Amino acid sequence: MSEISDNLAQIEARIAEAALRSGRDPEEITLVAVTKTFSADVVLAAHEAGVRHFGENRAREGISKMTAVEPYVSDPPPVWHMIGHIQSRKARRVAEHYDYVHSVDRLKIAARLSSHAAEAGREIPVLLECNVSGEGSKYGFALEDWHVDEGRQDAFLGAVGEILGLPGLQVRGLMTMPPYVDDPEEVRPLFASLRALRDVLQERFPAADWQQLSMGMTNDFEVAIEEGATMVRIGRAIFGARGSR
Ligand SMILES: *Cc1c(COP(=O)(O)O)cnc(C)c1O
Repeated sequence: MSEISDNLAQIEARIAEAALRSGRDPEEITLVAVTKTFSADVVLAAHEAGVRHFGENRAREGISKMTAVEPYVSDPPPVWHMIGHIQSRKARRVAEHYDYVHSVDRLKIAARLSSHAAEAGREIPVLLECNVSGEGSKYGFALEDWHVDEGRQDAFLGAVGEILGLPGLQVRGLMTMPPYVDDPEEVRPLFASLRALRDVLQERFPAADWQQLSMGMTNDFEVAIEEGATMVRIGRAIFGARGSR
């Protein structure tokens, strides 16, 4: 418990330093604490320590924690972020329970989330997950070398046009998950690429809101912030190493 609050204080300080270093306001950056594999008790301890945003990568695991902590954390309630790949048959659950979805990685899942959200009378803020490296997460819209590959760029722009027309979803920006590397400088160009892609979208679809860039994890969040991240998704640096599930 006190370890969580100590780790949290350190991470918040590092987020603020990275923001200030790049001339940004630390308030622009939302910390999403990734509690996957950890228990509901850990969620409670983190909430007590001041965490407000929680990230989970498996639909059902996250929902069982939401249910478990709900009676204890109403003031203020946690905001639950779905950050992992969503199987089609889980779309309804995600649309009914999560507050924010970072991992809209294909048109089909956007359409499913949309219809379930609309049915439930919800408007869910979402990010489009982009694979700008060709490695790393195998999910996401294929956007490796998008700036020179017009076919890829056009395919994505077409999908974006359709997603923006779907009810029940509010597009807020982009997300990426680069490959794990020891030296985070190696993935700096990928973060810069996501941000440049966002600028293209802003120009093409100016009526939509492209403000959010979800990028940066334990290993690379400072570099991501320097390249414009507005949401960082951090697990290990707050909660320690994860065991196997
Ligand atoms: C697990 C996970 C994270 C957090 O990774 P850490 O290395 O623990 O900070 C961030 N984003 C996604 C999509 C994840 O699955």
